[in-house]
Amino acid sequence: MALIVQKYGGTSVGDIERIHNVARRVVGTRQAGHDVVVVVSAMAGETDRLLELAHGIAERPNERELDVILATGEQVSIGLLSLAIQELGWKARSFTGTQVRILTDEAHSQARILSIDTRRVLEALEAGEVAIVAGFQGVTAEDEVTTLGRGGSDLTAVAMAAALGAEVCEIYTDVEGVHTADPNLVPGARKLARISYEEMLELASLGAKVLQTRSVEYGKNYQVPIHVRSSFSASAGTLVVAEDAAMEKVVVSGIAYNANEGKITVARVADRPGVAAKLFGAVAEANVVVDMIVQNISQDGSTTDISFTVPRPDYHKTLEIVRGVAAEIGAAEVLGNDQIAKVSIVGVGMRTHSGVASRMFEALAREKINILMISTSEIKVSCVIEAQCVKRAVRALHDTFGLERPPQEESPLPTQTPAPTGRTARGRRPGTARARAARRR
Ligand code: ADP
Ligand code: ASP
Ligand code: MG
Repeated sequence: MALIVQKYGGTSVGDIERIHNVARRVVGTRQAGHDVVVVVSAMAGETDRLLELAHGIAERPNERELDVILATGEQVSIGLLSLAIQELGWKARSFTGTQVRILTDEAHSQARILSIDTRRVLEALEAGEVAIVAGFQGVTAEDEVTTLGRGGSDLTAVAMAAALGAEVCEIYTDVEGVHTADPNLVPGARKLARISYEEMLELASLGAKVLQTRSVEYGKNYQVPIHVRSSFSASAGTLVVAEDAAMEKVVVSGIAYNANEGKITVARVADRPGVAAKLFGAVAEANVVVDMIVQNISQDGSTTDISFTVPRPDYHKTLEIVRGVAAEIGAAEVLGNDQIAKVSIVGVGMRTHSGVASRMFEALAREKINILMISTSEIKVSCVIEAQCVKRAVRALHDTFGLERPPQEESPLPTQTPAPTGRTARGRRPGTARARAARRR
């Protein structure tokens, strides 16, 4: 008997029939003898609808009130799921973030979890109930409702699993697991049996929304095994776990893209100390998070170009701010382009393999895709390109790095629920690589 946290995303609770499906899955896990804490998202599209309502009233809604509005989406889901489980003859109790006491800081719309009081959830389990917790929301020390950023139910689930010492945090979604690329964009994308926290963190932060970035960070810090799987099938998904030696043999594990950024170039800016500090200081003051930054070498000894990217929703605001400081930093021109996308390759094997970046550049060149910016870290290479080329770029890179073929290092997961623990997932089934590959098919 184990304690399992299961999180169901918006699509998985998108209508009444799907909520019944989730209820049956939860009851199935209870029947197998496990304690279950369920975390649910708002029904598909609900958070966007609520955002739209708020923006219909105020261009820049007060963030306290916005969180009060957004948190209602998850509150509806927990109540409906609780009813559906009760209809099956099992005990269930719903909890909002405030009722659990998921304590956060005061950063409305991006709050960080400070602590989780497990008392009420444990009492529910003790009473034989399924505890159903609203994702995405918390409460401050002053009892103000907060939300945890888009996709934040993943974070609620992982943090809940950490606080309860759960055996596994199962993230149920609308795809079979973490793939080598977004399966909705690349038909040949392959489900990964396992991926390291580091790689998942990069993929998530570079645009693969299958897990929220902060949830992966949290899972890594507290060593929570995360099992990403489909709520529409019984097959095993992807286990996100600590890196091991076998993972290094795979050079590129996945491709991510983000088509939701804009690029700003400050041309022929004075090449002297303090310019970048002034420029990015002004941007930071507006709470804009800058992503890539590239500064050219000075061509004439006195001026240089600085380019950087920001989230698309902040693009126009940032362009205005930069135009405002252009004269002060001696810039000749400020240029903007919001039709860009960033494609990235990610893999821990890059630490020990050379020539990976050049293979990426060659693949893009073969497709006649121009690279506008490049940035690298130990386990990723990112290129900014024209937005219209993004599909072609992701598919070409997927092909170039042979991601459709399973690498020999991967071992399949057992297909039974409950999800495997880290140890069973790492254990390799005997047999040749070919036999393993055959089993996967
Ligand atoms: P949920 O509502 O369950 O939280 P999300 O829409 O947030 O689901 O995340 C699942 C989606 O993530 C998939 O439908 C898929 O399009 C997208 N995705 C992007 N990159 C990947 C990837 N590498 N592997 C799997 N899914 C991915
Ligand atoms: N409902 C929230 C969102 O749409 C949180 C989540 O789904 O994880 O972002
Ligand atoms: Mg999500």
